[in-house]
Amino acid sequence: MAAENSQAQSLTRNVQHVVLGNLRFQTWYQSIYPEDLVSKDTDTLYVCRWCFRYSCDIQTHASHTRLCPHRTTPPGTKVYDHAGYSVWEVDGADHKLFGQNLSLFAKLFLDHKSVFFDVVSFLYYILVFTNPNSAGNDPNETYHILGFFSKEKLSWDANNLACILVFPPYQHKQLGKLLMGISYKISGWERDSSLIGGPEKPLSEMGSRSYSRFWEERIARHLLLHPSSDGSQAGAGATAAQLEEPKAQKPTSNKGRRKHSYKLMTVQEISRATGMLTEDVITALRGFGVVEPATPSKTRKGTQSDPNESKANPVVIRRSKVLEWTKTHNVSIRDPVREEGFLLSQSEPATDRELEIPGSDDE
Ligand SMILES: [Zn+2]
Repeated sequence: MAAENSQAQSLTRNVQHVVLGNLRFQTWYQSIYPEDLVSKDTDTLYVCRWCFRYSCDIQTHASHTRLCPHRTTPPGTKVYDHAGYSVWEVDGADHKLFGQNLSLFAKLFLDHKSVFFDVVSFLYYILVFTNPNSAGNDPNETYHILGFFSKEKLSWDANNLACILVFPPYQHKQLGKLLMGISYKISGWERDSSLIGGPEKPLSEMGSRSYSRFWEERIARHLLLHPSSDGSQAGAGATAAQLEEPKAQKPTSNKGRRKHSYKLMTVQEISRATGMLTEDVITALRGFGVVEPATPSKTRKGTQSDPNESKANPVVIRRSKVLEWTKTHNVSIRDPVREEGFLLSQSEPATDRELEIPGSDDE
């Protein structure tokens, strides 16, 4: 992958603009389109918004879009559908050309060192918007692909996402977070805790910013929506988190004094509850700005003299502070990824479906 891409490391953007459907916008990075088809000084490249076939010639593009085999339905299988937004799983082995053309298009907006020519080993999850109000009125208004993420079918590191992109005209609408949330859900960690994972690393600068925020929101929702098991509810005082130490702690509360009720939890417990890697939980807690050092009396109470405790580094997270954080950051407590949006066919983790052993002679 890397070798092929390194040949394509041109210093200048050789495609200046793309037309996707009826939208024209600038590219961000150099393209890796084959030079015999897309010359080095292309001002406008026409890309089919349904299958990502490309052409420098507007007539060729126009005749294709009239006949595009995907103009009414996206390829693959729908795995999620809620409020006009759906996600379709496209197997790169079944839709090789689609995977290649999508990757070529995505590269215009990604500065990744590796773009995946090896589409057979990947699943693509495309984010589709169907406007319920325009259905049937205009034959060109079928559906829009707004972005996607890819995922290796077999990831030794349990990566739940390889590459993510919301196309520029659709950015800043929280759609990246929707895709990230769906990538966690699809990874199947709720069924099998060995599948706890995260995005492939290292992350780009933009990826790192987006994920930090996504993780903070994910943990904020977890802390607010899942009250401690001792019966104290959201808003009932403080939640304590004991960090760094894997030893389980018994939830404790001071009966009759709700404002002091708290729950001790470890980073590992948050990790298991959210499907996030412990390192990502720590990144989020650090970035959060709601973590306070714990006073010894608060964290020791009820935990007895655990020999490991002295090495622990307990902190306190107050629900009220988390709630305040969600307000100042304009974060909805309700997860944008809706449980009811997942379709029944999406019941098995992708890793169970088709395992390709790296090095097998596919392409
Ligand atoms: Zn097409």
